[in-house]
Amino acid sequence: MAMSAPPPRRGPLSVEPLFDDLMREIFLRLPPHDPRGLLRAAVGCRSWRGILSDAAFAREYRRFHRAPPMLGFFYDQFHIERRRAFDERYWLPHFVTTATFRLPAYEDRRDWRVLDSRHGLVLFYTPAMDADFVVCDLVTGEELEIHPDSDCEDIMWWEDDDDNYRFENIRCNAAVLCGRDRCDHLNCHGGPFRVALLGSDEYGQIAFATVYSSETREWSDMISAENPNTISNWGHSAVVGNKVYVPCLEDDSVVEYNMGEQKLSVMMPRLRNRTRTSRTLVSWGWRTACCCLHRW
Ligand SMILES: [Zn+2]
Repeated sequence: MAMSAPPPRRGPLSVEPLFDDLMREIFLRLPPHDPRGLLRAAVGCRSWRGILSDAAFAREYRRFHRAPPMLGFFYDQFHIERRRAFDERYWLPHFVTTATFRLPAYEDRRDWRVLDSRHGLVLFYTPAMDADFVVCDLVTGEELEIHPDSDCEDIMWWEDDDDNYRFENIRCNAAVLCGRDRCDHLNCHGGPFRVALLGSDEYGQIAFATVYSSETREWSDMISAENPNTISNWGHSAVVGNKVYVPCLEDDSVVEYNMGEQKLSVMMPRLRNRTRTSRTLVSWGWRTACCCLHRW
């Protein structure tokens, strides 16, 4: 009885490793703004899926393309529903994709307002819920509720919160960011994060700041500094290292919050074109949060 031939052994000169290396180089060059290419390759075969799901490939891909692509942005829209007895008014967040990749957009979350987005995280203001803030990780889908403490509540007021003009000078601004020290944000999804809250008192003379840590689940002690210019809750915040910057309403001054050293100061940047820069800050107001989502 003839026996079937044993399967051929992979010898030292097998071309498979070379082929994988070649495919790896090709995958590295797939454009990051079109994630469909990576997804299609991952379902192509087990070998390709192994290459693409390797954490080392993700880091290499990030380094190869340097800056992460902007995959879209969030904005809020105010809705009024006409009813017989009363008009129902509420906010809805929307996500506009700028790539061939559709995110969970949280578009069904009534009265959720987008405050900020960074490092694949989105910070929502949710006054209709038990917790006033919710942070969502757009990659893992995790949602974490954050309760403000009593000091936070003293500076928390966004326009359209209510019609109580007694507190017309109270304004606040917030930023969400990755919480890992010296993080390169190559693969930190699901990791710790921080939420910085800055605001002005009801007299518009003092700025306050505090930061929330997802690791301790606590807010830091509130610090303050004299600032005659009310903090803007329309201007988009900026983060550089351990510092958060928010614009003021009356002029081009910017409040700097050093979260590492717990210092608060007011800066007057020298702007070449003051009008244009100011408009830019306003146009990226709190209702529009840019989202640079890292997929790696
Ligand atoms: Zn990070």
